[in-house]
Amino acid sequence: MQLVNIKNLTREELEDFVTNIGEPVYRAQQIWDWIYRKHVLSFADMNNLPQGLRERMAEKAFISWPRLLKRQKAKDTIKYLLQLQDGQGIETVLLRYKAWHSLCLSTQVGCAMGCKFCASTRKGKVRDLSGAEMLDQVLFVQRELSHQGDKPITRLVLMGIGEPLDNYDNVIRFVHTAHDPAGINIGFRRITLSTCGLVPGIMKLSQEGIPVNLAVSLHAPNNGLRDKIMPINKRYPLEELLPACQKYTARIGRRITFEYTLISGINDTIRHAEELTRLLADFPCHINIIPLNPIAECNYKPSSPATTANFVKFLQTWGMSVTQRREMGQSITAACGQLRLLRGGGKKRQ
Ligand code: SAH
Repeated sequence: MQLVNIKNLTREELEDFVTNIGEPVYRAQQIWDWIYRKHVLSFADMNNLPQGLRERMAEKAFISWPRLLKRQKAKDTIKYLLQLQDGQGIETVLLRYKAWHSLCLSTQVGCAMGCKFCASTRKGKVRDLSGAEMLDQVLFVQRELSHQGDKPITRLVLMGIGEPLDNYDNVIRFVHTAHDPAGINIGFRRITLSTCGLVPGIMKLSQEGIPVNLAVSLHAPNNGLRDKIMPINKRYPLEELLPACQKYTARIGRRITFEYTLISGINDTIRHAEELTRLLADFPCHINIIPLNPIAECNYKPSSPATTANFVKFLQTWGMSVTQRREMGQSITAACGQLRLLRGGGKKRQ
């Protein structure tokens, strides 16, 4: 019999699981509490459950836990390379701000989207992560923080390795569990999902009833250029992507963020800034300008500070809401997928 990874069950499914083995439903709440609030690693440690139940749970289910392969600290980030049960490596990055901790987590091993500047996709997609494997990233880091008496993680960004909307069902399952007030308890509005622009996924998410923040990786103000640096644009060009974004905004009632990574000589001239301003005029959105993290596999270079400043200033002058992401983690190869690639991960291709 295949053991169930307990973190792949929603709360309702765990209740069914527990009642199916003849236990009262409140046992599910106790187990949930042990896993998501007390971070125990085995049923044997759940000491308010009867011994018999602990044993029966261990016969039918298991609690996954990743293995730490590497931890890299920089001033305001800690990057974890974690090994999953099948030996695959994934990255998760803790972003330390003064008032809160945010965790940037992976949703797939590798990525199938093929963006030119991104390390995660160089060797294609190996597989999707399960909801449990996404939760494991949060719980692993959360456990470490609580052992140090540090503040908890209160924000999540799905911006690590992988395309979350290409792993839709597992991501939704993960979001529900991460949100559950009786467990990890992170509000939907404190969860940001970043996509390269999978239009059907955006449309579906707008109907899901979970008002998470949406970030869309734009990186180019026209189809010609976007086709070149983000192949997904050939499937879902701007004339389909932008209306989907507008629909999401209308549905959720909050602005979405467009991410725009400045690449020297490619998308960073004033002409591009003008085009971007025209493209997003009348669209209640926010633009996040990201410095390029150069990767060995691609010869794109980051824009100079002067070019970056001019680009940002142009957008501001035209009334756009813009922020410039501080350069977190470059010293620890925090660009998506770099640590995993350095380790030689993702050998299979899909
Ligand atoms: N697949 C999702 C989420 C993961 S990537 C997406 O595309 O949005 C998270 C963000 O990092 C995206 O905006 C992505 O375009 C950007 N990114 C990827 N590689 C980068 C690099 N080398 N330098 C700067 N930003 C990068």
